[in-house]
Amino acid sequence: MIIAVDGPTASGKGTIAKALARHFGLPHLDTGLLYRAVGYQVSLYGGDPNDPAEALGATNFPDELLGHPELRSEATGGLASRASVHPGVRKALFERQRDFATQPNGAVLDGRDIGTVIAPEADVKLFVTASVEARAKRRWAEMRARGESHTLVEIEDDLRRRDTRDTTRKDAPLIPAEDAFLLDTSEMTKEEAIAAAIAVVNEATGQTPCP
Ligand code: C5P
Repeated sequence: MIIAVDGPTASGKGTIAKALARHFGLPHLDTGLLYRAVGYQVSLYGGDPNDPAEALGATNFPDELLGHPELRSEATGGLASRASVHPGVRKALFERQRDFATQPNGAVLDGRDIGTVIAPEADVKLFVTASVEARAKRRWAEMRARGESHTLVEIEDDLRRRDTRDTTRKDAPLIPAEDAFLLDTSEMTKEEAIAAAIAVVNEATGQTPCP
């Protein structure tokens, strides 16, 4: 079974994807991490993620980089968002995501274009959204826990900029697949959002809910 979980930054899609993977015993890939690695790798060498050639050159980042804590920072998210607009970068990362999605026992992938480009044949597609305000509050708390201090206004502005870049880029823009289930987590706790996502998968695949 392939489960595609797409949505904007800090919508809760990563948490939901991880929980679905655990619940259904499937491997999970956070595809945002790949774009973050590209953005971070470009910046390591003083490059510019807006430059298509420099961003493309960074797609052969070493695998160890995926565990680097700096990949989770707000600054790296911005670099990733810039690097991800280039069709060459998306193409270079396609095979890796596609191979993960099509492994024999199935998989859960979260990102922006899983249900539309990487695995359009996914058994279940979830599009997770939340208001900018709700997402900014979550991201603020996450960053605070990491020791990064940003104001809520800074985070909201950054989310809006990234949303605009993600939804207006020509190649694989962030849009729900036609057959995706929309899940708005603005008013939900983490536990409620996870339960709702599990219910969607059970319903879509005809599985009986766990007691
Ligand atoms: O999800 P996350 O915030 O880690 O993603 C970082 C950036 O990578 C996003 O802002 C988006 O621009 C890009 N991305 C993408 N396609 C994906 C996953 C992430 O374009 N499948």
